[in-house]
Amino acid sequence: MALMLNGAGVSRGIAIGPCLVIRRGELEVLEYAIPRALIDDEVARFEAAIKKAQQQLNQVRQQIPANTSPEISAFIDTHLLMIEDEALCRVPINLIRRQQYNAEWALKLQRDALVTVFDVMDDPYLKTRRDDVDYVVTRIQRILLSHQEQVDDAVFQRARGCVVVADELSPADMLLMYQRGVAGFISEDGAPNSHTAILARSLGIPAVVGVPHACRYVLQNEQLIVDSRYGAAIASADDNALRFYRRCIKHDQSRVAALKILKDLPAVSRDGCVVNLMMNIELADEVALSKKMDADGVGLFRTEMLFMNREELPGEEEQYQVYAKLMRVFKGCSVTIRTLDVGADKNINVNPLNDYYGSNPALGLRAIRLSLKEPQLFLPQLRAILRASALGELRMMVPMLSSMREVQQLHLLIKMSKAVLQEKGQSFDTAMKVGAMIEVPAAALTADAFARQFDFLSIGTNDLIQYTLATDRMDAAVGHLYDPLHPAVLHLIQMVILAGKQNDTPVSMCGEMAGDPQYTALLLGMGLREFSMSASMLLEVKGIINDSDVSLLSRQADALLALDNPDDIVAAMDALGTH
Ligand code: PEP
Ligand code: MG
Repeated sequence: MALMLNGAGVSRGIAIGPCLVIRRGELEVLEYAIPRALIDDEVARFEAAIKKAQQQLNQVRQQIPANTSPEISAFIDTHLLMIEDEALCRVPINLIRRQQYNAEWALKLQRDALVTVFDVMDDPYLKTRRDDVDYVVTRIQRILLSHQEQVDDAVFQRARGCVVVADELSPADMLLMYQRGVAGFISEDGAPNSHTAILARSLGIPAVVGVPHACRYVLQNEQLIVDSRYGAAIASADDNALRFYRRCIKHDQSRVAALKILKDLPAVSRDGCVVNLMMNIELADEVALSKKMDADGVGLFRTEMLFMNREELPGEEEQYQVYAKLMRVFKGCSVTIRTLDVGADKNINVNPLNDYYGSNPALGLRAIRLSLKEPQLFLPQLRAILRASALGELRMMVPMLSSMREVQQLHLLIKMSKAVLQEKGQSFDTAMKVGAMIEVPAAALTADAFARQFDFLSIGTNDLIQYTLATDRMDAAVGHLYDPLHPAVLHLIQMVILAGKQNDTPVSMCGEMAGDPQYTALLLGMGLREFSMSASMLLEVKGIINDSDVSLLSRQADALLALDNPDDIVAAMDALGTH
């Protein structure tokens, strides 16, 4: 029978493929009673898990190279001995038989009992045996729960054409899966505006996030349908459903093809309002694909992807080559390169940066805060961006600014970088435009000062909404509070657009709200004239712009901004564009 799983869709597509379950989080061991008649089966299941754990450890032992220190094999031998010990292989069976516990629970109870004994020992060496118990028990539990042993590149190697079902996926995992040709994914964790989801959207990978216990409900290798339009996934689908979804994929392909007639048209409203449509790019190799969609330029190049899945920081020259490539592909267009925005869910594992993730990473040393603290990280990037500015119309953009102190330091470092390049005789655009991302409420509230200090502003709604509403953009549990139409968010956006107008400073928007067709009319009405989004959304948004009457929308947006009741706001949104 088909099984429907629900979460939040992050892109528009549909994917069908065999399921690859990847789990890396905490093991969740549940207690349930085994009926008397099935006790022998449960014991057999436990014995099989013990046997498999022994085989796995023996395999590991055989793979140890001959010249390795004997301590390593001794370590494995200890674990093998532990598995064979009555305390681990017999006592849980007694618990299953006497108490009718399930195997995982019986093993957990015995583990807790053993660990308590080790905990009260004074001898520090014996105390560490507690970790060995945990290691061995976890190995057996993983087998009982059909858990993946570990998640690494080798696991993602098998992702080609598959729908990955995972408990959690980081942006770095997303990159690995993309490189391996994954068809789609479902994750238990995450929300539509987490960086992993944004990356999936940008790479056109159908995905559903925030699906509780997804890994438990699907079977390895079974056929899975991901319908990211409706945030649904279907396991064990019958032939009718598969036929239906294959038709939907074809239909989708025709819809995308039909939109192509807009490709060579400018984005201009019916009443002649010209809009700049820019694209967000995460990977330099996505460039060729994006170029085909014909945006007016790049409104956001997220440089952090360059820093992921590696052990050493990319140097100035390596970065320069990537930025130069971007400039060549977008010759004649404006290209906006954002300085490093790591921290929070975009972790990189390069020393010393991995020392900096504090107790509340979203409010910690993220983005420009880290760049200012670590000049050896920031200065090579500034120089690489400046050098690439000699190749065309390059704009540099800085994430997460919140205070004028940071702005002063930033301008000083840019000045210093220019002086270094001048001294070396390296060319750059002396008038390179520098912009600030407005993604912290403090920056939005002081947008006027920011507009005076920068050549352009770009509203990062993903973070602006998160920080304004105190709602973690990655946490599905508070996803219902993450509301782009909250009056607080709309007023902050309006303040930024007005500050830009008053100071003659162009304002763009590069958060996900800019590429979501349901908000296009409202943002046009609020006066936004530059939108930056995933390449996959450009033509759809262009279609809405070209069909709009901006002067009507502007009157309607004013009225909508005066509302505070969510239902009235939704009704006013529905009425936008109608007389
Ligand atoms: C934003 O916050 O809106 C944004 C574009 O930046 P990121 O999603 O990379 O944090
Ligand atoms: Mg941001």
